[in-house]
Amino acid sequence: MKRRYIDIITDNIIPSNNTYFATQLTKWYQQHQRILPWRATKDPYKIWLSEIILQQTRVAQGLPYYNRFIEQYPTIYDLAAASETEVLRLWQGLGYYTRARNLHACARTVVNQFQGQFPNNYKELLTLPGIGPYTAAAIASIAFKEAVPVVDGNVYRVLSRIFNIEVPINTNKGKHIFNELAQRLIDLTAPDVYNQAIMDFGAIQCTPVKPICISCIFNTSCLAFVMGKQNQLPIKLPNIKSKKRFFHYIIIEIGDELLMSLRKEGDIWAGLYDFYLIEGDKLNEFEQLTDELVDLIKRHQLPIEKKPKLYKHMLTHRTLYALFFRVVATAAFMKEAQVLFKNSEINSFSPESIKLLPKPKLICNFLEEFVYI
Ligand code: SF4
Repeated sequence: MKRRYIDIITDNIIPSNNTYFATQLTKWYQQHQRILPWRATKDPYKIWLSEIILQQTRVAQGLPYYNRFIEQYPTIYDLAAASETEVLRLWQGLGYYTRARNLHACARTVVNQFQGQFPNNYKELLTLPGIGPYTAAAIASIAFKEAVPVVDGNVYRVLSRIFNIEVPINTNKGKHIFNELAQRLIDLTAPDVYNQAIMDFGAIQCTPVKPICISCIFNTSCLAFVMGKQNQLPIKLPNIKSKKRFFHYIIIEIGDELLMSLRKEGDIWAGLYDFYLIEGDKLNEFEQLTDELVDLIKRHQLPIEKKPKLYKHMLTHRTLYALFFRVVATAAFMKEAQVLFKNSEINSFSPESIKLLPKPKLICNFLEEFVYI
């Protein structure tokens, strides 16, 4: 039978019947596993919730969010019955808001199309909103003992070091090799334990910076350690350059209230609230901004206060620069401004209601710094 190219490569790294790695890893896990609330359950709802919250988030930061979600929405029916605004509000501060919207959409899909029961296999789990290969593998293996390996940053790091794999992890070839290796290494009899073990091993022992090689169970067989290369692996090709965006926010005060704008689909932060936004191709002073609202403010001769700080905010592939300008509205100004706002979701909110609105971190930071809420 003709052998697959990927088998030939991975055979050179590890034979297909190797169980040493899984056995050692499991032993390590029995002594060092982290005590986490989603570990003490086989409930796919709780496992799924923890996995979604922990994507791109450290356990210490994600844990209070997990506890708040479980308290507020103890079952998937409770989460599905919530409004998107409530879910975004509870998610506030974690960033990557698409995850929160998908979380909500997934809960509704499970309730409406699967009678409230998560599918019990990897393939069907992948069809749900926001569930990619990693999350599907985590749920399928931990809740249903299906032997599918999780492959994420932790796994890339551990395997690339132990087996000295220099193929960049963010290439198709790299992904292919690591997936194949992970599939060969998983403990077929206890995939739930194995997957949690490799997650914890990467998080506690084989850390991105300063791995604790001196006490590591693999330090006689880990090729990276033997060759002194542990800080050079895994290899990742440089990311595409982050795009810059320049935001000019106009904060309109009406008495004690502020105008807040609900962001639309098709851009970052859909479903969250910010202020009236004018985006430019560079940062400008208020006088240089070209916009109908700016013209109206100038026509009414309303004084503008420029907030002294330039905010820089990093997203995955974007860096945002934001300036804030404050204006106190008059009744005559608002009468004309309402016409400008008629096709937008811009409304005034008291400080108490603003606290309850879901908002991007950048806006929260600003509001707190200038004591608006
Ligand atoms: S010896 Fe060091 S680099 Fe190798 S697996 Fe252990 S902690 Fe990671």
